Amino acid sequence: AAKQRGKANYVRYHGGMEQPIFAHAQLGGELRRALDAEEFRLVYQPIIELATGRVIGVESLVRWQHPTRGLVSPAEFIPAAEGTGLIVPLGRFVLREACRQAAAWLAEFGPDVLQKIAPNVSVRQLHDPDFVDDVRRILAEAGLPSDRIVLELTESAVLRGPQVLQTLHRLHDMGIRLALDDFGTGESSLSLLRAFPASIVKLDKSFVDGIELDEEGTPEANARQAVARAVIQMAGALGLDTVAEGIENQVQADRLIGLGYTLGQGYHLARPMPAEDFTRLLAAQRERATAVAI
Ligand code: C2E
Ligand code: MG
Ligand code: MG
Ligand code: MG
Repeated sequence: AAKQRGKANYVRYHGGMEQPIFAHAQLGGELRRALDAEEFRLVYQPIIELATGRVIGVESLVRWQHPTRGLVSPAEFIPAAEGTGLIVPLGRFVLREACRQAAAWLAEFGPDVLQKIAPNVSVRQLHDPDFVDDVRRILAEAGLPSDRIVLELTESAVLRGPQVLQTLHRLHDMGIRLALDDFGTGESSLSLLRAFPASIVKLDKSFVDGIELDEEGTPEANARQAVARAVIQMAGALGLDTVAEGIENQVQADRLIGLGYTLGQGYHLARPMPAEDFTRLLAAQRERATAVAI
């Protein structure tokens, strides 16, 4: 059911070729209204152990349930939210909701069934002087231990100088893990990875796309595979975990397993889904674990 719902829900999702559904100027005011009207909600995409299909964690992804325009993709509104500064209160909502939901899942299923929740964080939020205190307070209010949360950051976020780096170290010292999202698309470098207190790198979908085609020997597919291999070797050398993003078929999954990837995400494994559906997935996984134990 989640698979079917996935595509149908994202009718608003589109690339850069089409007309944006909001004029840019209009969007700032709309977002502010939407935040007050509580039109944002989270969906959850499982992070899966490739060899077994077991859920080990989950990423939260924000959606805008617009009263007339339907479900709006974050690609449509995150840039504007960042530009207007509204990402700070929106990001606070995302963190609060993700932590509240994770605490509920942990209480129901325990840490063996769900190890981590991973919300996305914008660079603009890291510049907010209150960010670390906000995170601390949100965790305390939710009753979520800090070692259950992974903050997903893009590389560009991390390259913004010493102040951001200091914030990241403070979060790390609180026991919060940091993941470098969309890895390989920005100015990824070994020195960046060493300076940054990351625990996880997420191989960007663009290096997973077409990775299964290398037997046809196209230079593009071979290059993607070389990047996927380089990333996992670099991560391994630095003691970081890896997650491969955007896996859309089993051949890709097998290829990634062959390169040494153990964790992945993608439509082939599970689509982003409402909280209720993820609860059912965890319940089903617990049933299976119990059946095996008996
Ligand atoms: P991301 O963090 O890299 O998230 C992965 C995106 O890829 C998600 O798109 C997800 O739905 C999509 N995806 C996952 N598996 C597949 C697959 O197999 N095939 C394809 N084609 N796509 C797949 P989504 O939800 O539209 O989010 C886009 C981006 O928006 C995210 O990229 C993230 O950078 C940003 N974003 C989402 N939620 C938040 C948030 O709460 N705060 C901030 N600051 N950014 C967010
Ligand atoms: Mg992410
Ligand atoms: Mg990503
Ligand atoms: Mg991505």
